[in-house]
Amino acid sequence: MSAKVLINGYGSIGKRVADAVSLQKDMEVIGVTKTKPDFDAKLAVELGYKLYCAIPDKERVKLFEDAGIPIEGTILDIIEEADIVVDGAPKKVGKENLEKIYKPNKVKAILQGGEKAKDVEDNFNALWSYERCLGKSYIRVVSCNTTGLCRILYALKDFGIKKARVVLVRRAADPNDDKTGPINAIKPNPVTVPSHHGPDVVSVIPELKDKILTSAVIVPTTLMHQHTLMVEVDSEVNREKILEKIEETPRIILLKEKDGFSSTAKIIEYARDLGRKRYDLPELCVWEESVNAIEKEIFLMQAVHQESIVVPENVDCIRAMLEMEDDKFKSIEKTNKALGLLK
Ligand code: NAP
Repeated sequence: MSAKVLINGYGSIGKRVADAVSLQKDMEVIGVTKTKPDFDAKLAVELGYKLYCAIPDKERVKLFEDAGIPIEGTILDIIEEADIVVDGAPKKVGKENLEKIYKPNKVKAILQGGEKAKDVEDNFNALWSYERCLGKSYIRVVSCNTTGLCRILYALKDFGIKKARVVLVRRAADPNDDKTGPINAIKPNPVTVPSHHGPDVVSVIPELKDKILTSAVIVPTTLMHQHTLMVEVDSEVNREKILEKIEETPRIILLKEKDGFSSTAKIIEYARDLGRKRYDLPELCVWEESVNAIEKEIFLMQAVHQESIVVPENVDCIRAMLEMEDDKFKSIEKTNKALGLLK
C-alpha cells in the first residue's frame, strides 16, 4: 500500500515534509497547497508536485493562472483522494483547517506544533507516543523545541526522571523570515516562568506532569535553538552511562567541541558540508563535553535545527495513524534510511 498524502501549506515545514514523504517507499505526495502564486509555488510545480490552492476560492485559483503557474484546482478538488493530510499552515490556521476542512471531509490530519494540544486527539513523538497514536484521526506533531526535549528525555528515562529543569535559548526567526525579530536584544519569551514548553512536553509524556519546568529567551539568530538541561534522577548515574544511553537513542548525535563543533554556526556548517538539502539536520545534536553527572543530577547542552527536526516525526506519524507499521523502531528505521539520517 502506498499512502496518499496531501500537504496543506507548502512552507518551511510543509515543503520539507513533502520531500521526506516522497523519499519513502510506502507513501506518496498527491498534492501540495499554497495561497500565494510566488516562487515557492512555482518551484513546487517544477519539482513535480501537483499544486492546489489552499483556500477553496476560484478567484484565488485565477491568481495562479494569471501568474503562469500551473494549478490543478483548490484543496476541495483533491481532499477526497487523500488518506491523510499533513497540515503545514501558519500557527492557528491549522486548527481552522481541522474544523472547516478535515473533519467535514472525514480525512485524517496531522497538525503542527503551532496548534494547541487540546484541539487534537493526541500529541506525537515517535519515541514516546507512536503506539498511542496508532489508527487515530487527528494528531499534533509537537514543536521543534518539544521534539528535541522529548528525544533527550527518552534517552534519560531509564535513570528515573525525578525533576527536569530546562533553559531554552530560541532562534528569533527562520532564515526566510524578513518580519520577525529581535535583531539586537535578548528577549525573555515568555517572560513568565515556567514557559509553555514544559506542559507541551507533558502532552507527549504525561508521567512528567509537575516534574518538568522550563524557561525561555529569544536571541538574534536564525540557525538553531539551544537547550541547557538539568535533570534530577532516582538512580546512581555517571557520565559514561549517560553517553551510552544517548548513543543508543535514534536521531540523537553526539558532537564534540574539540572536533570543531564550538557553536550552532559550526554545526550548520557541518550540515552544509554533508550536502544536506536546505542544510537540514533533523538529528538532535548534543555537545558531548557538556554531558556531566553530579551525584544524581544530569547536565547537558543540546542544539535543535528548528526547521527540520519535526520532519521525520511527521513521516512516522503518518505510518502510525494509517497503521502501516506497528513497531515504532521499524518505522523510525525506515524513515531514517530513506532520509539518509546519521542515526
Ligand atoms: P510558514 O513557513 O509560514 O508556511 C506556512 C504555509 O502555509 C505557507 O506555504 C502558506 O502558503 C500556507 N498557508 C497559508 N494559509 C493557509 C491556509 N489557510 N491553509 C493551508 N495553508 C496555508 O510556516 P511554518 O514555519 O512552516 O509553520 C507551519 C507550522 O509548523 C506552524 O504550526 C509552526 O508553529 C510549526 N512549526 C514550525 C517550525 C519552524 O521552525 N518553522 C518548527 C516546528 C513547527 P502561502 O505562502 O502561499 O500563503
